[in-house]
Amino acid sequence: MHDQTEAFIPLSVPHIAGNEWQYVKECLDTGWVSSAGSYVNKFEQMMSEYVGMPHAVAVVNGTAALHTALLVAGVQPHDEVIVSDLTFVAPANAVRYAGAIPVFIGPEADYYQIDPVQVEKFLQTECEKTSTGLINQNTGRRVRAMIPVHVLGHPVDINALSELCSAYDLTLISDATEALGSKFLGRSVASYGDIACLSFNGNKIMTTGGGGMLLTHNAEWAEHARYLTTQAKDDPLEYDHGAIGYNYRLTNIQAALGCAQLEQISSFVAKKRQIAHTYATELRHIPGICVMPEADWAESNYWMYTIRVDADVFGMDSRVLLQYLAQHKIQTRPVWRPMHLLKPHQQSPVYGGAVSEIIYREALSLPCSVGLSDLEQTRVVQTIREAHRNQV
Ligand SMILES: *Cc1c(COP(=O)(O)O)cnc(C)c1O
Repeated sequence: MHDQTEAFIPLSVPHIAGNEWQYVKECLDTGWVSSAGSYVNKFEQMMSEYVGMPHAVAVVNGTAALHTALLVAGVQPHDEVIVSDLTFVAPANAVRYAGAIPVFIGPEADYYQIDPVQVEKFLQTECEKTSTGLINQNTGRRVRAMIPVHVLGHPVDINALSELCSAYDLTLISDATEALGSKFLGRSVASYGDIACLSFNGNKIMTTGGGGMLLTHNAEWAEHARYLTTQAKDDPLEYDHGAIGYNYRLTNIQAALGCAQLEQISSFVAKKRQIAHTYATELRHIPGICVMPEADWAESNYWMYTIRVDADVFGMDSRVLLQYLAQHKIQTRPVWRPMHLLKPHQQSPVYGGAVSEIIYREALSLPCSVGLSDLEQTRVVQTIREAHRNQV
């Protein structure tokens, strides 16, 4: 049914369709190519307005945004930070860059997001409030912050987590790197939390090639973030540095790309949601396929469309299906191996890791580029149907 001439369908590729060329050319023509220039400020302003957070600091990538967020939040070496167990590795690594230790919490099974019930159980049963802060009684370490990740673009239950952060005096750093354009109760997901972090990596819903941003309500934190990400300069002329700073600033060329991409974000989100709707309609009735969920209180950007495959019912497991689709030139991908299984993070405490492992085993992300055509999507759906028919 599929001949050799059929084109490769990638998992997800950038969509460059607006003023990208014009804005980047302007940087090149004027010589404003580096980390100063009007596009950096403009990009920060545009994003701050789009998200609804008053302060924005552009940085080199999302991981740097998370690292900087932990530093300005005052996380110290040997502190503990609660992190989603089922996530891309960046937030766990950022915690370690700050010298702190992640405590991994597994997801709930409905939307695959960090489980507030498990978080509460950890805080209630393992931690104690003392004069020096919240102490994990098992490790003797201070618990300082929480980084929930809006996995695959679907919002976490941010209200439940905010309440826990208030009750236990934890800083809430929202990893919204996958969730730009997603809403929680009608409001931009990235407007919640003490700090929200974004990424503009090539595989995200919008891209600057590589890039990131830190957003916050706290003017002092934003100022501090700007300071730390520009090598902690204390004097504009003399090379005087008041702290160990970082070279984390975004360049003007990247910011120019960012402005052009951000102008198109509404249509990107609309297209992602349309792709999701079509997959849900077409795949829902195939036995053993669980389509991507969306909570009542959520409006997901469906950044990475991900199904679950029940091997017994479908007739093959997610990895065999991945191979089958690959043979038909359709690129798919598993979700991330849970953090508690990764060599550099195995020493960290973990709660609810079993749910992560089930989702990890069953999940498969399908092609969902903003530029995906109807014909291409039909081919993906038909090939999955065919895989099921051939196997059962
Ligand atoms: C993409 C991503 C990041 C940041 O990635 P960068 O490549 O550093 O921009 C952070 N956390 C999660 C969950 C991500 O998916």
